[in-house]
Amino acid sequence: MTHSPSRRCPGYIGWVTAIALGIPRVGVSGAPVPPDLSGRGDSPYLIDRHGRRGRDLRVSLTDRCNLRCTYCMPAEGLDWQPADDLLSDDELVRVISVAVHRLGIQEIRFTGGEPLLRKGLPGIIARVGALRPRPDLSLTTNGIGFARRAHEFVDAGLDRINISLDTLDPDTFERITRRRRLPDVLAALDAAAAAGLTPVKINAVLLRGVNDHEAPDLLRFALDRGYQLRFIEQMPLDAGHVWSRDRMVTAYEILDRLSAHFELTPDPGARLGAPAELFRVDGGPSTVGIIASVTRPFCGDCDRTRLTADGQIRTCLFSRAETDLRAILRGGGTDEQIARLWRATTWGKLPGHGIDDPTFLQPDRPMSAIGG
Ligand code: SAM
Repeated sequence: MTHSPSRRCPGYIGWVTAIALGIPRVGVSGAPVPPDLSGRGDSPYLIDRHGRRGRDLRVSLTDRCNLRCTYCMPAEGLDWQPADDLLSDDELVRVISVAVHRLGIQEIRFTGGEPLLRKGLPGIIARVGALRPRPDLSLTTNGIGFARRAHEFVDAGLDRINISLDTLDPDTFERITRRRRLPDVLAALDAAAAAGLTPVKINAVLLRGVNDHEAPDLLRFALDRGYQLRFIEQMPLDAGHVWSRDRMVTAYEILDRLSAHFELTPDPGARLGAPAELFRVDGGPSTVGIIASVTRPFCGDCDRTRLTADGQIRTCLFSRAETDLRAILRGGGTDEQIARLWRATTWGKLPGHGIDDPTFLQPDRPMSAIGG
């Protein structure tokens, strides 16, 4: 599967692009009605018509991954995006600098695919870390290969890390990821802590009948080592489109399983726009997080905007429309034109991801090609 921007929602992208570039489109026969940008005012920020402001940019650095998690990617992988379609390091840094300097983005999270597979990642981190005001820089990774490079990333300016770990059992790890690499992930966690990245966060997805019984063990493991564990509800973003609401392990079930072993109390006010609902464990100060994107969506507080590795803006993981920044970038567009396109796209951000809507359709791109 390849992802040519021209195949996606050409009318929508055309109008947004036209508005951002100031190209009059009125009078084009059959053209769609342009988005109404009145009411956006002249705010320089990424605001939408539902009162939210984008502050957190998720940057996907590649659609490739070295694991094949069953809930994300098929065993044989996907048709990777051609190298020429991906933003170069210079293009990427330029887009991020527009986001920071002109749009008020304060946090950059590098993700993928597997971001550690991106050659030149330390250089990208260093260049983004040199922007002023300096954004907070974090990485979401499966950790493979991180242990021997941890200091490279910290020296480059990485502030925080999330490492994905769904199980502590090597056989279950292989069953979920189709690779026998659990020791690499455990070594990555050790190395991240030793390199001074705090807090080290763990992302875990539970699958019914596979690793859902491990929730308490995962929490005990995290508590013993001072890591912050967050469970993520499985979302309909798998390449095989086999997700089912009936099969997914809900936040309620996770809390129920944990509550048999730990005393959990909601941590009031700790969410502050973050996707995880936090619970104090056994009176605190340690916490566990639940990201209940499906059963307790937090769209009303969403402050995220996304850039795919091939230069498309998405306002939501579940967007079915994207806006092509790469075309402007490679067509000689100015920084302000890029910023205007991003603002116009954000103004049209939908109020919610709509998973509960009967008309909900899973996005064409799987999680690995969007950037989780
Ligand atoms: N490869 C990196 C990693 O494993 O962390 C970064 C990308 S991965 C898409 C980011 C996170 O998304 C991981 O924690 C992964 O477990 C999670 N993820 C992937 N597919 C998911 C799905 N369908 N539902 C919920 N989380 C998912």
